[in-house]
Amino acid sequence: MSPSLRVVVVGAGIVGSAIARALAREGCAVTVVERGPSAGGTSASGEGNLLVSDKEPGAELRLAQRSLACWLRLEDELRDELPPDFPNLELERKGGLVVATTEAGAAALRGFAAAHRAVGVRAEAIGGDRVRELEPDLTPHHTAAVFYPEDMQVQPVIATEALLAAARRHGAGVLQGVEVTGSVLDGGRVVGVVTTAGVLPADAVVLAAGPWSGAVARRLGVVLPVAPRRGTVLVTSRMPRRVRHKVYDADYVGAVGSDAADLRVSGVVESTAAGTVLIGSSRERRGFDERIGTGVLSALAAKALLLFPFLADAQVMRAYGGFRPFVPDHLPVIGPDHRLPGLWHATGHEGAGIGLSLATAEILRDQVLRGGRDPLADEFRLDRPTLLPHLGRAA
Ligand SMILES: Cc1cc2nc3c(=O)[nH]c(=O)nc-3n(C[C@H](O)[C@H](O)[C@H](O)COP(=O)(O)OP(=O)(O)OC[C@H]3O[C@@H](n4cnc5c(N)ncnc54)[C@H](O)[C@@H]3O)c2cc1C
Repeated sequence: MSPSLRVVVVGAGIVGSAIARALAREGCAVTVVERGPSAGGTSASGEGNLLVSDKEPGAELRLAQRSLACWLRLEDELRDELPPDFPNLELERKGGLVVATTEAGAAALRGFAAAHRAVGVRAEAIGGDRVRELEPDLTPHHTAAVFYPEDMQVQPVIATEALLAAARRHGAGVLQGVEVTGSVLDGGRVVGVVTTAGVLPADAVVLAAGPWSGAVARRLGVVLPVAPRRGTVLVTSRMPRRVRHKVYDADYVGAVGSDAADLRVSGVVESTAAGTVLIGSSRERRGFDERIGTGVLSALAAKALLLFPFLADAQVMRAYGGFRPFVPDHLPVIGPDHRLPGLWHATGHEGAGIGLSLATAEILRDQVLRGGRDPLADEFRLDRPTLLPHLGRAA
């Protein structure tokens, strides 16, 4: 395809914003269509971790490794693309500390770390002295600990806004408060979208509507198995920094990969640059139900206190929730829709979309502009064997 092609990106979350920037930098005529405010969806609901530590060796980990390299370059790149007074991304190369609290958990954690090292992830099994040095206030009752120096954190709303602002700087248009309601078809190909502000012609339409991608896909005429997976975060009031890294219980990895619909909670604790402590992590599938129950809050608090007993005296400032874009095989969908030429997907990143957004944008950009085969991109195609049974019939 020629670089001057017209691209409509549906959704101004971090994934849509990263894609808009990547394509606009290449000279495409990009229009981002967002029904609400930019960064108003799931991208405003997460802690902003950029992790390799929680991903099993495989395609998602390789995508995360590629993305971490992109994040390390981004600050420099944005310096040339944004005005000097644009807010800082708050990118912290803080590292992640994973701790087990049972003997069985210790064996599993050591095995996981060994598998990570075999694929080039820095995973340092550390003893008590080093743990105390890294996290003096962590419970002494742990059975194993592994430090992941490559794990980072970013402020996800600022990052989303920065990517969108950079896309604008490269000529992209952004329509906020405009909803995509359908597709325009010509000879079995998508040639535009119908929106609440009229029809937008396009050579390529990129669906990046996060957990709403399944519903938007239906409007465009295809089935896409993306569903919301609820997560809730407890936020303490500001305090002097006593949690220095991202710290989580090793059983978190099992909760991430689980298919269970009922509530799963594991201990994940970290500080923000603003001085609050974020306490997660919960997962449950119950549609777009926004209620926050006392059950999930007490389970989150209990898990956090096991890791950091001093939090028993912390004040809770607020709690918030969001919906991770869940795909049945836990991998994002990136690439063309083989059923409807002209339609592209970049969605389903579940609990890792902030981290994975930049490499996703690179992959999609290369596919849209240059076609060609990339072995990593192949792992996320829509027609992969693990997803085919979920594609159903076109609506
Ligand atoms: C509690 C919680 C914690 C998390 N923590 C992390 C973390 O630490 N690290 C990490 O990497 N990830 C984390 N995630 C996951 C991450 O937030 C998501 O994977 C990511 O934000 C998805 O981005 P997105 O751009 O695909 O979707 P979104 O940010 O949801 O953007 C999609 C946009 O599409 C718009 N839209 C929907 N329908 C339409 C329509 N018809 N027309 C126009 N626009 C439409 C929506 O309004 C929305 O703004 C967390 C998620 C949750 C819920």
